[in-house]
Amino acid sequence: MFPRGPSLRYNTGMSIQLLPEEVASQIAAGEVIERPSSVVKELMENALDAGADQITILVKEAGRRLIEVIDNGAGIPSGELKLAVHRHATSKLKNAADLFRVSTLGFRGEALASIGSVSHLTLLSRVQKEDMGGSIRVEGGEIHPVEDLGIPPGTTVRVEHLFYNVPARLKFLKTDRTEKRHINDMVSRYSMANPAVRFKLHHDGELVFQTSGSGDLREVFSSVYGVSTAKQMIEVIYEDEYLGITGYVSPPGLTRSNRREMLFYVNQRPVSDPALSSATNQAYHTLVMKGRFPITVLFLSLPPDKVDVNVHPTKAEVRFEDKGEIFKVVSRAVRRALLAFSPVQEVSNIRGVNLWGGPAPDQSHIHRGIDPAWNKLEKNREEGVFGQDMDSPQISAPLGAPILRLIGQVAATYLIAEGPDGLYLIDQHAAHERVLFEKFTSERNEGNPSQALLDSVVVEFSPSSADLVQEHLPILRKLGFDVEEFGPGSFVIRSVPGTLQGSSPEGMLRAAVEDLEVDETPLEKNIEEKIIARVCKRAAVKAGQVLTPEEQKQLILDLEACQSPRTCPHGRPTMIHLSVDLLERKFGRMGP
Ligand code: ADP
Ligand code: MG
Repeated sequence: MFPRGPSLRYNTGMSIQLLPEEVASQIAAGEVIERPSSVVKELMENALDAGADQITILVKEAGRRLIEVIDNGAGIPSGELKLAVHRHATSKLKNAADLFRVSTLGFRGEALASIGSVSHLTLLSRVQKEDMGGSIRVEGGEIHPVEDLGIPPGTTVRVEHLFYNVPARLKFLKTDRTEKRHINDMVSRYSMANPAVRFKLHHDGELVFQTSGSGDLREVFSSVYGVSTAKQMIEVIYEDEYLGITGYVSPPGLTRSNRREMLFYVNQRPVSDPALSSATNQAYHTLVMKGRFPITVLFLSLPPDKVDVNVHPTKAEVRFEDKGEIFKVVSRAVRRALLAFSPVQEVSNIRGVNLWGGPAPDQSHIHRGIDPAWNKLEKNREEGVFGQDMDSPQISAPLGAPILRLIGQVAATYLIAEGPDGLYLIDQHAAHERVLFEKFTSERNEGNPSQALLDSVVVEFSPSSADLVQEHLPILRKLGFDVEEFGPGSFVIRSVPGTLQGSSPEGMLRAAVEDLEVDETPLEKNIEEKIIARVCKRAAVKAGQVLTPEEQKQLILDLEACQSPRTCPHGRPTMIHLSVDLLERKFGRMGP
């Protein structure tokens, strides 16, 4: 956009001038430093580049007041402190050719200068072999003289009053909760790429996240996502002469409603490339429903000259030399890992929810590979067994449900029933979602009576999800979840809404907060609706679950009793109707 002001509209009368250093830095800062988490990112990268194996991050007021990153890396000689805060000053690159083989995270020599131009920055550092260190202070781009200082080896960068001189940025910042979440996500991302580094993150004096630095990725993963999630992850290992892939992906039963937990790294550098997540999703084709996304932490390694990380100042994007091929390989490697794994399924995944009376049988001891029903289903889809006409079904007007006579279940996914006017194919998941949703909503008016669990369940959350649970405790309680904080990042569930009894309490609590991160401050009513829809979806029987004839019958009866039986709460059809007319035409019993 053109500036609106009259004097800047045309450059007549202004001669070409070099921008003052201060202004240039502020412009650069605009690209690199978007919010507090960008500062955390740049400072962590510098610490990692300096070979630190301990990085401590202190944050106050979501980074508005203070971001301090303390490392035990190589340090900066006092004589170079001044250079370090200068723009285009880097120790990591000497000429243009180096650009194509950089292995450090930074190389633009921009971060410290940029941060210094929009904050009060103090850089304290000491190299191992010197007895004294030094400090330098930059205030809004103005560099003060270096002072001697006795400190332990390593570097501390203290950033205070971020954006104090850029009101527009300050105004653009989101709530503390959101800014903290960005910081938390950034720290977890880097900690997973560097399992041998000990990370500690404090918010306002409280330690909220730490890793041991043991070098074991699974351990770091557990710190981020909790042990129970970590235990379910499937390992991916792939290697050819050109590309290596390692990491973890979640089993098809463990998914999220968005891509936020699909993390990718190229040569240890976090990247965000939508094509990489679609390649991975591709591997889950037919294993998870549309709109569900796995949790992934995948590390790609390829020769530095095959990938250009220099595309974007914050380097989240990459350019691959052979994009198509890489994505194909990623997709195949993940698919192979998925098909090879042999998970311990959750009770609710095996038998479905126990809506059907009595507590769910404990089948947690049953170890199963991917249900053969999936493969069968997939094969059917590929071979087009579900013929064309089924793809363009004739869905009747959304009135009440007809009275149905159950015939049976196909592909462990659909129920077949006969109605007064033909055949009905019912999607068991969508139908059950509808049933639960209506029960839940009607019980809400009675305050959603909750059902105490025989054994309370403790669930661990990542720091940002824990914040969400904490924040929504009142609503969750109102909906029948008796949940209480149980140490940092974990919560104990004592009772669940009666309607959802029998379903995995942990799964439901996770589902409840899953979508909430996206919206900032929606109306409470909307949040409730959202939570109800999410937990009902989570609690509903899945495609691929074999139901007993009694369960099938009950589902159909329950569906018949619904007010809007023909769609799931998200608006997808629960049933497809094939009228007698249509059948007769298809069989050539009647003229077309
Ligand atoms: P870049 O990382 O792109 O080189 P920065 O502005 O982030 O640019 O840092 C400038 C220089 O300051 C680095 O090249 C490095 O030499 C030095 N430096 C910055 N932070 C640290 C640190 N934590 N430990 C050691 N040296 C550092
Ligand atoms: Mg840097």
